Amino acid sequence: MGYCQGLNKMTLRLAIPNKGRLSERSVEILKQAGLEIENEDERRLFANVKRQDLAVMFLRAQDIVRFVHKGAVDVGITGLDLVMESGLDVVIPYKLNFGRCRLSVAVPEDMGVQRPEDLPDDLVVATSFPNLTRKYFQGLGKRVEIASIAGAAEIAPHLGVADIIVDLVSSGSTLKMNHLRELAVITESQAVVIANRKAYEGCEQQVQEIISAMLSVTEAENKKYLMADVPRASLDEVRQTFPGIAGPTIMNIIGREDVVAVHVVIEKSEAYDAINRLKRLGATGILLTPIDRMVP
Ligand code: AMP
Repeated sequence: MGYCQGLNKMTLRLAIPNKGRLSERSVEILKQAGLEIENEDERRLFANVKRQDLAVMFLRAQDIVRFVHKGAVDVGITGLDLVMESGLDVVIPYKLNFGRCRLSVAVPEDMGVQRPEDLPDDLVVATSFPNLTRKYFQGLGKRVEIASIAGAAEIAPHLGVADIIVDLVSSGSTLKMNHLRELAVITESQAVVIANRKAYEGCEQQVQEIISAMLSVTEAENKKYLMADVPRASLDEVRQTFPGIAGPTIMNIIGREDVVAVHVVIEKSEAYDAINRLKRLGATGILLTPIDRMVP
């Protein structure tokens, strides 16, 4: 049973986005971390997690920053861009390795400007990130008028309500579709875990356990588990191929003196080369499998 020091509480509250780009993956991460949401189909705003002193709230990513700051929830998943825009004090213990995007200045394709420094003064900038935008242009020493909008900034130049925009860009296809060109990146963003400062300090163990469960999923995501039967004579070369921290695990195979089983965790991006190298070393029975969680 959890009991958070000085906070007199038993149940930790975790907020995850209820819609938008970060929502689906956040739910998936909880599931992969073995946290099962009760009555999942009926879930709307609030759900308990089976067998844990943990409640999950489904909220808008923007609101999560405010609610975590106020202590209405203890821990949340949201975008780093939203945390930075809010300027609110929360603990940002970890990045979650998904929802990557950048906050960028974009201009109409036919605007003949190559650097943000060369933009004229007094342009109207449409954005849902007024604070970061103001700071950025102040830093450049440019005078701009900010047109604050809730979303779909890309359309603003076409409607004649803005000259340029500051918005999130991921693949860049929305900009292209709207005949806009990315001129400068203001900041990079991705999904992060945030925590209320008091909860982070008072409920350290509970908060750390949830965070480390989520991280173990995202850490494993880019890794693969590689198994192969390798001629004993090639073992030195195998060790050189997979130096790693602890090196590969080598196991005897009953009844086979000449061959050993090699198990190793590799980066997903290395899988193609690793398998080819193993085959060249005479390996057989090569298996490559996903890893659900990696707990250091
Ligand atoms: P894209 O066409 O992939 O560059 O995506 C751009 C559109 O998706 C813009 O409307 C952005 O506001 C939105 N977007 C991109 N990445 C994110 C993200 N990580 N979180 C929230 N919105 C995003």
